[in-house]
Amino acid sequence: MPHSVADDTCPPLHRHRYDVLIVGAGGAGLRAALELQRAGKQVALISKVYPTRSHTVAAQGGINAALGNISEDNWHWHMFDTIKGSDYLGDQDAIEYMCQQAPRIVRELEHFGVPFSRLDDGKIYQRPFGGQSQHFGQSQATRTCAVADRTGHAILHTLYQQNLAAGTQIFSEFFSLDLILEDQRVVGLVALEIATGQWHQFQADAVLLATGGAGQIYRTNTNASINTGDGLAMVLRAGLPLMDMEFWQFHPTGVAGRGMLISEAARGEGGILRNGLGDAFMANYAPKVKDLASRDIVSRAIATEIHQGRGCGPNKDYIELDLTHLDAELIKQKLPGIREISLTFTGIDPITQPIPIHPSCHYMMGGIPTNLHGQVMTQVTSDANGENQPVAGLYAIGECACVSVHGANRLGGNSLLDIVVFGKAAAEHILNQTETRTETAAPAKLSNLTIPESIIARMAAYQADKPKTNSGDNHDSVVTFKRDLQKIMQRHCGVFRDQTTLVAARSKLAELEQRLLSLPLHDPAQAFNLERIQAFECENLLAVAWATLESAIARTESRGAHARDDFPDRDDQAWLVHLLFFNQPERRLSQKPVQQQPKTVAAFPPIKRVY
Ligand SMILES: Cc1cc2nc3c(=O)[nH]c(=O)nc-3n(C[C@H](O)[C@H](O)[C@H](O)COP(=O)(O)OP(=O)(O)OC[C@H]3O[C@@H](n4cnc5c(N)ncnc54)[C@H](O)[C@@H]3O)c2cc1C
Repeated sequence: MPHSVADDTCPPLHRHRYDVLIVGAGGAGLRAALELQRAGKQVALISKVYPTRSHTVAAQGGINAALGNISEDNWHWHMFDTIKGSDYLGDQDAIEYMCQQAPRIVRELEHFGVPFSRLDDGKIYQRPFGGQSQHFGQSQATRTCAVADRTGHAILHTLYQQNLAAGTQIFSEFFSLDLILEDQRVVGLVALEIATGQWHQFQADAVLLATGGAGQIYRTNTNASINTGDGLAMVLRAGLPLMDMEFWQFHPTGVAGRGMLISEAARGEGGILRNGLGDAFMANYAPKVKDLASRDIVSRAIATEIHQGRGCGPNKDYIELDLTHLDAELIKQKLPGIREISLTFTGIDPITQPIPIHPSCHYMMGGIPTNLHGQVMTQVTSDANGENQPVAGLYAIGECACVSVHGANRLGGNSLLDIVVFGKAAAEHILNQTETRTETAAPAKLSNLTIPESIIARMAAYQADKPKTNSGDNHDSVVTFKRDLQKIMQRHCGVFRDQTTLVAARSKLAELEQRLLSLPLHDPAQAFNLERIQAFECENLLAVAWATLESAIARTESRGAHARDDFPDRDDQAWLVHLLFFNQPERRLSQKPVQQQPKTVAAFPPIKRVY
């Protein structure tokens, strides 16, 4: 919708100047903000929802750190598991840094006030999660630190409260629209105050994107409805790339027909998956680790059982997660949130009956490419393997970023870790950079910022005081547009993919692109106009869908969460590389080498995965 209004007069802007702008108040944004604000920086934290509604609040199972509180552990084993789990696409220096930092960062969270569940001896409680091992792939490790099954809720609220105490300036319910660049440096952004419909221009030395995931491109997903990939689309519109966008994790246990997550903690505590014959079928797919195999393996196993007619229920279209053999008290104490979700959305009490489940899109492994310091990376030349360098003034952290610790598949408990480790690392880098910044490198003064015409046109489209109804027979809406996009991606680019179905989706996305230009808007209000916000979100979702589709078509192998029926094997010879997707000035792909060498320990060469 935004491009079709030909009004290039810039609406009035409220102007702000801060040291650092952070877009996104989930775990990643809040962790970075805290570090910067405590160091004396002027920080503006912009969020399209009230901070504690960010998707981090929904994280259930926990955060990984080799604390060794229950059984022996070692961060090298954590690193090995993460590299293997990533199907060797993860950058080993980034994984090394994250796993090494994990024990310190979790204890730091504890000191901030996160109320971790405790063992009898007072230490932090840990549970086993999928893909975790002791002694480099031997016995199951117990590495996931948890606050019952509400770990994200506890972390988010604690970080929010610490930011309030530190005095971080929070712009709640502000929708960030686009980045402003001058001389190839990011100098600020334009945002909409949702409550009033007024526009704001924020200027800063550094802009940090922490806008979370985009699971809303799929029909069945575990994500909050706000997870629409806004930061990713902002980066694409600025002519910068996204990386590894073909890799989407389908969580094996979403509530069947609904999508909400039943955490891996349920299997960590002893839950068993059963097919329609009552068989614990994971033994056939992963004889050693069974139900705690990594998520891509379990999701494909479930999809295969259903596909081969061994599903549950009258239509044999789901699988059951059986907790009925567990102690009722354990379920009440360790899995209260899961029991509540099951009771609310299916009416089933897992103490007495199995929960119907189906794989549900959960997590985006790809995102905005960054280095270890959170600096956004781009390629300066447009050949197939262009030179990579940081974009001045721009950082990305959390799920929207791809520092590449998850590669082709994320292990459970590693995202909460990623967001706090790299949230802090990016903040530290900004502090070092700005301390040494010379006056000549400073961005233009507040009054000098020029808003590009493309952004002005999009602002004007929102501002239009008349509803856009185009033609009487156009019954389209933001709701049907989004649903159609989700259906296309679910059908053509889901758990299993092949060339024919993928290529067929190209013309369907192109049709949506046309529909977007004349998408009718019915609500003329300026204040709290959520329909127009959703129109921007639809545009962002479509950009993310293109990145996903084109990358999935190009990668002619199966690796991690990217399972091609027509190319079932991993092909390290051709495809042990990252894929970069650019949407502007033209749609194209490029490649970037995988970092296969950690900094301090020996590299882990690719081996075939055996479960
Ligand atoms: C149901 C569920 C359970 C999970 N459980 C676990 C778990 O147990 N362990 C684990 O490690 N991981 C888990 N994950 C993954 C993990 O929770 C997320 O990857 C992580 O919390 C993302 O944090 P974030 O800070 O990057 O983004 P989010 O928490 O999603 O925050 C994004 C922020 O960006 C803001 N934003 C977005 N767009 C705009 C815009 N245009 N303008 C202004 N603001 C904007 C939002 O308002 C929000 O504040 C789970 C995920 C889900 C969905």
